[in-house]
Amino acid sequence: MIRDKNLKGKVAVITGGGTGLGLEIAKSFVQQSMKVVICSRSQEHLDAGAQELRNFSEDLLALPCDVREPGQIRTLKTNVLNEYGRIDILVNNAAGNFIYPAEKLPLKGWKSVIDIVLNGSFYCAQIFGEQMIAQKEGQIINILATYAWTGGPGTIHSASAKAGVLAMTRTLAVEWARYGVRVNAVAPGPFDTEGARVRLWPTEEMKQRLIEDIPLGRFADPKEVANAVLFLVSSNARYINGECLTIDGGAWLGKGIGRAFEILDQVVALREAGKKERTNKE
Ligand code: NAP
Repeated sequence: MIRDKNLKGKVAVITGGGTGLGLEIAKSFVQQSMKVVICSRSQEHLDAGAQELRNFSEDLLALPCDVREPGQIRTLKTNVLNEYGRIDILVNNAAGNFIYPAEKLPLKGWKSVIDIVLNGSFYCAQIFGEQMIAQKEGQIINILATYAWTGGPGTIHSASAKAGVLAMTRTLAVEWARYGVRVNAVAPGPFDTEGARVRLWPTEEMKQRLIEDIPLGRFADPKEVANAVLFLVSSNARYINGECLTIDGGAWLGKGIGRAFEILDQVVALREAGKKERTNKE
């Protein structure tokens, strides 16, 4: 893991920080002696997450907040400022997702995912961004998915929302650079968390089918994705702005025409066989 002494004491808010990737990011931050605030809707998630984080540091907050509700985000901001006096980093990680064919997707489901991922990310960016602009310093990391640009059959709600957050990342990176606020994104391919397992690949067979499409032949470890976030907020990345760091084992590049590599061996074998035949004839 990167060690960056400049991160010591920085205040980071992580939405959906009590579970899965959000909790891994929180762990990597507390190990840099940062002051971490995890937030989400369920007290149960927050308590369990905070308990794990306390193995590394007591200097953290676990506060309820539904990112669909700007009023709750403002209350969270007030509480963080009362406790720590500043906000250096926001990680927009909270999300909802489930598999559904587009033609049958209930509009309630579409709205719910758009509200959490697209609207929630913007509300948090604007509300916490206001403080970063006042400080003339801050960073926002948006957690995307590679289907933000490949499209996501079966998850049109999430893919559309993440595509919007990618556009948001690039737009804010330009608008807020003059205030000293950098905005970047991380786009993972699939990785194993309880939330994803239950909703996206409920059987081992389905998981293996997804792994077949990954050139590196495995899912990411959530720690590897957290490391990418840590790199972007570290001083090693201070000239990186408006970038999206893909961490998917090469999976999205292997799709479409890229799958031609699967017939590579056969094409080479046929060519070699043809060459041999021609040589034998000569
Ligand atoms: P997860 O464990 O299900 O985490 C989602 C988190 O979001 C939960 O902690 C949940 O907590 C919180 N949340 C949901 N709705 C919320 C709301 N309205 N307000 C505040 N918090 C809310 O999922 P994960 O697998 O770690 O995914 C984390 C991120 O990575 C997401 O952005 C996801 O899209 C992205 N991603 C995941 C994968 C994957 O394969 N796992 C792949 C690509 C990208 P509460 O229920 O307590 O609110």
